[in-house]
Amino acid sequence: MSAAIIDGKAFAEGLRGRVADLVPDFVATAGRQPGLTVVLVGEDPASSVYVRSKGKATEAAGMKSDTIILPADTSEDDLLNLVRKLNADATVDGILVQLPLPRQINENAVIATIDPNKDVDGFHPVNAGRLATGLHGFVPCTPLGCLMLLKDRLGDLSGKDAVVIGRSNIVGKPMAQLLLGESCTVTIAHSKTKDLPAVVRRADIVIAAVGRPEMIKADWIKPGAAVIDVGINRIDAGERKTKLVGDVAFDEVSQVAGAITPVPGGVGPMTIAVLLRNTLVAAHRNEGVPLAKDAI
Ligand code: NDP
Repeated sequence: MSAAIIDGKAFAEGLRGRVADLVPDFVATAGRQPGLTVVLVGEDPASSVYVRSKGKATEAAGMKSDTIILPADTSEDDLLNLVRKLNADATVDGILVQLPLPRQINENAVIATIDPNKDVDGFHPVNAGRLATGLHGFVPCTPLGCLMLLKDRLGDLSGKDAVVIGRSNIVGKPMAQLLLGESCTVTIAHSKTKDLPAVVRRADIVIAAVGRPEMIKADWIKPGAAVIDVGINRIDAGERKTKLVGDVAFDEVSQVAGAITPVPGGVGPMTIAVLLRNTLVAAHRNEGVPLAKDAI
């Protein structure tokens, strides 16, 4: 059997288009563009690339994009004061502080200082609590993107056995909450899980968010299962070249699974598309402009 490929790139383009289509109505009602401010501390090359792509995508959707780049030796107090200033700025709907932060800054303190209603990354404990208790809030972009891809492929997820491998606050835990919200029977696996292959073999839906190249093998997968690969790992491809691979051994798993996301081109493009979606939602909420529940 050969799995259907879940084309995250195409889905993300569609989502970005739907967001862009809704921006003019917001501008007409609110008299301003939705605004996203991204803060980068230091010059980590990977983070700089992400921040640039976020800025470009925000502008392409017709929204206002601001990028604030601070020196690597910025103090925690200075960053917290900047976040407070952005919280108070009515033209800023979404605030994203690019992680990781330099050592002298406590990430949790920064996340906790962002106004939960501008926390388009969905990392604030208030938003984590809202997700856990089934209230409206902001959901982290990557897991929400995974859920969108799954629902698009499988429709109703109710009653399905889902195994999430990884329990980070950014991916694994919110992913598990989202699947529980869809009435899946959810297992969260991690580095202490016993007999991981046997646990994964029970799953109709596998979410791999581990950060270990091609760890998940074909004989771990129930035939026909949907496999979502969140992992992004750069490995040596010989001849001084590198390539990106996921946490799933794609070539072999795609022979067993019913559907699978590739790396690249699967979950990756969804993250920025959902960030734009969250920013548009934040703008509507902040201005009290209604947005149809299923509009995006
Ligand atoms: P973390 O390192 O924060 O978490 C990894 C999780 O995997 C931990 O819960 C850890 O368990 C678990 N784990 C590690 N080794 C094993 C193992 N051998 N068996 C079972 N579980 C294991 O990573 P993130 O959640 O931030 O990211 C996961 C992957 O997703 C990375 O490759 C990252 O690059 C990618 N990513 C991709 C994004 C995208 O846009 N597509 C966005 C965010 C992340 P324990 O808790 O016990 O240590």
